[in-house]
Amino acid sequence: MATAHADDFDAATEALLRTEDLTKQFGDFVAVDGVNLEVREGEFRSVIGPNGAGKTTLFNCITGALRPTSGAVRFRGEDVTRMAPHERVRRGMGRSFQISTVFGGLSVRENVRLSAQSVAEGEGRLPIQRKLFTPTGRFEEVESRTDEVLAQIGLADRADEYARNLAHGDRRRLELGLVLATDPDLVLLDEPTAGMGSEETHRTIALIEEVLADRTMLLIEHDIDLVMNVSDRVTVLNRGQILATGTPEAVADDDEVQQAYLGGVRE
Ligand code: ADP
Ligand code: MG
Repeated sequence: MATAHADDFDAATEALLRTEDLTKQFGDFVAVDGVNLEVREGEFRSVIGPNGAGKTTLFNCITGALRPTSGAVRFRGEDVTRMAPHERVRRGMGRSFQISTVFGGLSVRENVRLSAQSVAEGEGRLPIQRKLFTPTGRFEEVESRTDEVLAQIGLADRADEYARNLAHGDRRRLELGLVLATDPDLVLLDEPTAGMGSEETHRTIALIEEVLADRTMLLIEHDIDLVMNVSDRVTVLNRGQILATGTPEAVADDDEVQQAYLGGVRE
């Protein structure tokens, strides 16, 4: 379970994820500006902020999709700043939705199996052609992990459907399943409910909490209301900088945070 008392923190304990003065510029524009973020093992952390705050850019620097201009990213104390995305995944950083590509022409089950297999074989993520034809030494283990994930994401009864036939919400569930199947220590999600209606959004947040919250979570979200009930701590990003970090209640009450949201552009 996520830690209830996230503030009981021993400063000597190494954070699972740490960014140090992380900065990303696009030309003269500073999208991420000296961000020091520390996510502890077991914590459910949300990073919120108005559109354009730099959330996705921060996410991309953490996962390796973007190379920061300066600063560092550490995972379990190891400097991963210049490491390729798949190297980070192999170390336990599970992310959605960039690497976890759903293959529409494969069944739901095959999609989950590929993801589970990539970890079970200890080879990291291989090109799809190789994964499909690699003999599975641990067939049983992969099959049982696949069944487990299908049940957890509520798609067991749709396992034989082509992924391309899934409705938007079910496709998002499958994407979560692909992350889950890699058994990550840290789950990074960038606006997992984007494009969903309000009912589907609440179901997805509940699903994230149910299925992924025993892991360390870094959830990026622009809607502050969505993360209130599930987060141990919330970090507010505004104009590339951290404005506040604290419990959801403390952050929601913060005058500067309210200003940022009122002043920012909301969808
Ligand atoms: P958020 O995810 O919080 O909405 P982004 O990280 O997507 O914000 O964007 C932060 C700012 O950086 C925005 O002003 C955006 O226009 C700018 N930006 C993002 N990516 C690029 C890019 N590749 N080139 C130039 N500007 C970018
Ligand atoms: Mg974004």
